[in-house]
Amino acid sequence: MSFAALWGSLLPIGRDGLSGGYRRYAWTPADAACRAWFTQAAAERDLRVLTDRNGNLWAWWDPPGPAGPAGSKAVVTGSHLDSVPDGGAFDGPLGVVSSFAAVDMLRAEGRVPVRPLAIAAFSEEEGARFGVACLGSRLLAGAIDPGAARALPDAEGVTLAEAMAAAGHDPDGIGPDDDLLAAVGAYVELHIEQGRALADLDAAIAIGEQIWPHGRWRLEFTGRPDHAGTAALADRHDPMLPFAAVVLAAREAAAAHGALATVGKVTAEPGAVNAVSARVSGWLDARGPDERVLQAVVDDVLAAARDAAAGHGVGLTAAAESVTPAVRFDPGLRERLASSLAARGIRAPVLPTGAGHDAGVLAARVPTAMLFVRNPTGVSHSPAEHAEPADCQAGVRALAAVLEDLACG
Ligand SMILES: [Zn+2]
Repeated sequence: MSFAALWGSLLPIGRDGLSGGYRRYAWTPADAACRAWFTQAAAERDLRVLTDRNGNLWAWWDPPGPAGPAGSKAVVTGSHLDSVPDGGAFDGPLGVVSSFAAVDMLRAEGRVPVRPLAIAAFSEEEGARFGVACLGSRLLAGAIDPGAARALPDAEGVTLAEAMAAAGHDPDGIGPDDDLLAAVGAYVELHIEQGRALADLDAAIAIGEQIWPHGRWRLEFTGRPDHAGTAALADRHDPMLPFAAVVLAAREAAAAHGALATVGKVTAEPGAVNAVSARVSGWLDARGPDERVLQAVVDDVLAAARDAAAGHGVGLTAAAESVTPAVRFDPGLRERLASSLAARGIRAPVLPTGAGHDAGVLAARVPTAMLFVRNPTGVSHSPAEHAEPADCQAGVRALAAVLEDLACG
């Protein structure tokens, strides 16, 4: 079956009629329909389907004949089928559909794996329902405590354990799966690009270099609440003013260091139109090409915050809420991808990304690599997310080339 037919069969599942976006949340009926789609696509290809203890789906293409020599580890590809609220069609599903299409392409060319080849679809990658991104791969890799995961509530207060049980999956079994991971020799995830670097480079495919280090910091400015109509400007201790300086400093520091910094959330207390605030809290999201640059951006922003707070006689506390170090994809595997593509005349620049992926979580346990498919506008997590059919086809070709060299060679 061609990419287009597979793509078309998945497209209607979980799409909201009004927004045109996808609402494929973990352990809901839309998720069950995606799982049924996966199982059918695997069955049509005689792939052996397995749901692991954490609810991730695997479709295995076993090499023919007796089991290979010990140490013949599997080559795994795939991505995820869940979405953010009103997400696009490509983020996740492009990798899963391309994986099935790449298997079709290998078979059409008469290729046979000499080691196990699997297609995986990881559960709750976006964290749209239970708030923790890459939940399925985190559980698999032992990067989150199973008890804490079982207790995670959704917006209605339904826990992960309850949602799993209602969907027919035993929540008592979730947690690290060292045997499964030990059988995996490499994980290669194809994903739509979430930016528009490839459009500028005039290339359809990129190889992932690393996931930028990133973090979030909370800054709390404490001033003196006062009357907007009677307090003289000179007498005020208005926490909104140093906060405003921070918003501008974040943009300036990001531009100066070649990084990204965003203040996307702010709260003002008491939040009255006609009053000077008592307290303003802002959250800084910063991402950079390496830890040194990230630190430089954060240092600049915090210095500006301290100066501005002092200038306005306002108190400041600042603390990191989470900091995630860089994930560097396996250099050896990346080189193999590069030579597989180069040998077939496929030009693939090497690009970093600021977005998280299952491949980033799994990188702590197995060699991982990523392929990105051009996104002409760069828009992602939106119904406007798009990749041209020719570029999707180029992605399938690139993935098939990589899988052939890793699993059939
Ligand atoms: Zn994704």
